[in-house]
Amino acid sequence: MKRDDKCSFCGRSRNDVRLLVSGVNGFICDECIRQANEIVNENCRMEAPDCHSLKIRKPKEIKEYLDQYVIGQDEAKKFLSVAVYNHYKRFMQPLSDNDEVEIEKSNIILVGETGTGKTLLARTIAKLLDVPFTIVDATVLTEAGYVGEDIESILTRLLQVSDYNVEQAQRGIVFIDEIDKIARKGDNPSITRDVSGEGVQQGLLKLLEGSIVNVPPQGGRKHPDQKMIPVDTKNILFICGGAFDGIKNKIANRLNSRVVGYNSDKDKDKIDFNNLLQYIAPQDLKSFGLIPEIIGRLPVLTHLDPLDREALRRILTEPKNSLIKQYIKMFKIDDIDLTIDEDVLEFIVDKAVEFKVGARGLRSICETIMMDKMYEAPSEKSKKLTISLDYAKACLEKVGTARLKQS
Ligand code: ADP
Repeated sequence: MKRDDKCSFCGRSRNDVRLLVSGVNGFICDECIRQANEIVNENCRMEAPDCHSLKIRKPKEIKEYLDQYVIGQDEAKKFLSVAVYNHYKRFMQPLSDNDEVEIEKSNIILVGETGTGKTLLARTIAKLLDVPFTIVDATVLTEAGYVGEDIESILTRLLQVSDYNVEQAQRGIVFIDEIDKIARKGDNPSITRDVSGEGVQQGLLKLLEGSIVNVPPQGGRKHPDQKMIPVDTKNILFICGGAFDGIKNKIANRLNSRVVGYNSDKDKDKIDFNNLLQYIAPQDLKSFGLIPEIIGRLPVLTHLDPLDREALRRILTEPKNSLIKQYIKMFKIDDIDLTIDEDVLEFIVDKAVEFKVGARGLRSICETIMMDKMYEAPSEKSKKLTISLDYAKACLEKVGTARLKQS
């Protein structure tokens, strides 16, 4: 470099600036770098991040996609589809300083008996998304300083799936499973330390509210020497799911006390006691042990229906990767054509209902019926395999039902 070199942008000479950086055909001074940086930042802010690379699906399209994998649960699917669509819309909006209307996120809480499809919904939606998505289990979370994971570890996962791109993580979606397990255990929290209950809820509140959280990049406990990554949770969408065992009694109590006095008989007639979760309201979550602040931060409350016989029958064959389709594919790899008689499918469903094992139990019943065939058929000459009702019954008898009931 020579003494009379000049900044190609502002024309100031080397002596008038602190730093002059040389390029192929010119120079730039530190002041012009600063200004250029501001222009870049401003433009990036005006333009929503990566708008063009995102495929936005309308709520109806999202629901149609979910319909291919999850049977029933229409209300939950609708609520989720709208929430995800709105989540995209929020960060597609160009930010401008004088816009007074800021679209706020609406975190969701899904309440449904175990095995009715909460996690399946979350996993299915994840396949469709262009934003970082992670599923975390609330049962492992404890208050800072106790055995278990710190609340911040929820965000560690999000950072990991975003390849530590903080901008990306900040518009991700987190599914918190088993949120009911952090409910307050008793009405009086001071009797014993409730390390996995109210304390965790307080910690979680910070995340749901939207704040800057220091996240340990490798998860686990915070070490004093670990470098933290600040993550702003303002735009992260939280979807929580839980079975809330016993909440039906609280709903029933509330409904009963409401109907007493007012046209009681008429109102009572309308209540469907087989599916009380459909009447769930925020106050039921409060009686269950969630703190009001958390409930306030989960404004969209929806439920999953219990799976009846018909739903279980559809689950066996209809979803894109239904159990039966999986067995057919597995045998096809060995060039074997598998046929399962219709009455076998009905029998499997009957047993799932009888053993009260729900959709999750369908797999263990199928495995029991298919095990010997999966063992023998690949070595046999015959390329056709038919499962009959008598064969299916014999398989279950051989194993005994005790094992299946426990599953
Ligand atoms: P939850 O999270 O509500 O406890 P899951 O989503 O883990 O239940 O469901 C367990 C399994 O049962 C799923 O992997 C799926 O095979 C089956 N299943 C449950 N509900 C449905 C449904 N509505 N449609 C299709 N399959 C379902």
